[in-house]
Amino acid sequence: MKPVGRFAPTPSGRMHLGNVFAALIAWLSVRSRDGSLVLRMEDLDTQRTSDEFAQVLREDLLWLGLDWDVETQPQSQRSHIYETYFDVLKEKELLYPCYCTRSQLHSVNAPHLSDGTYVYPGTCRSLTSEQRAAFNRLPSWRVKVPDKLWTVEDLCQGTYTEDLATDCGDFVVRRADGVFVYQLAVTVDDGEAGVTEVVRGTDLLSSSPRQMYLQELFGFPHPAYGHVPLLLAPDGRRLSKRDKDLDLGVLRQRLAAEKLIGSLACTAGLIEKPEKISARELATVFSWDKLKKDNIYLDNQIL
Ligand code: GLU
Repeated sequence: MKPVGRFAPTPSGRMHLGNVFAALIAWLSVRSRDGSLVLRMEDLDTQRTSDEFAQVLREDLLWLGLDWDVETQPQSQRSHIYETYFDVLKEKELLYPCYCTRSQLHSVNAPHLSDGTYVYPGTCRSLTSEQRAAFNRLPSWRVKVPDKLWTVEDLCQGTYTEDLATDCGDFVVRRADGVFVYQLAVTVDDGEAGVTEVVRGTDLLSSSPRQMYLQELFGFPHPAYGHVPLLLAPDGRRLSKRDKDLDLGVLRQRLAAEKLIGSLACTAGLIEKPEKISARELATVFSWDKLKKDNIYLDNQIL
């Protein structure tokens, strides 16, 4: 079966080099095996995202030579679909309303995951209906998690294991304002689009067990996962969309696409010298075995 990969950018600004790198590897992994790619705009946060950014993103991907076969509906237009999956969780009696405030959650003396999420101690799991009514405000909704190990056999990071009950706790799938959260939306969208391979930055590795759990509840097969190293500035900082000097708007003025791809590919271990190369040519030599696993410090080669 041919692989189906995806790009799932958040159109909240210009891509930075880290975003470009993750998109490049997602593209190479499927194109090197004659697979297809789905593009999806992750614009659940309508305050920060815009159609203008989405259009620039599409142009930037094409400038890099990273094409896709189909663009699916942006997440902001899919609430009614997410609602049906939310109902599946409700029917399975796995949902409960949570009234904890942000400050309560932050004061919980518990370890937290790499993405900053706190291990939820189950505070609102067994509230009575009287206790719920007494809050007199709209709740967020959490899904109960089982005490079970989830193992990701990651194409890049190797084996990653998490017990959702002790490492994460019951997690939010819908916010108090009614907006569905990333974990639910991404699981539904990848599942419905028939995605067989999810490639993204290692900062999202710890999200995979939550998504695998939801896949099981919704009846979707688990995709393969590949979490690629993050690109770090020379001082060790993670790149963000605030790093204007490393966003594509600036880089496109300075560099040809083939130069940029060659430098990234060399830094990541895919080719030996930072020579110009197109994404298509790189696909002929790509293999996951060559790709570095540890976070990559950018040096002056690219800067
Ligand atoms: N939308 C996320 C981002 O732009 C990626 C989510 C994913 O790949 O699952 O960082």
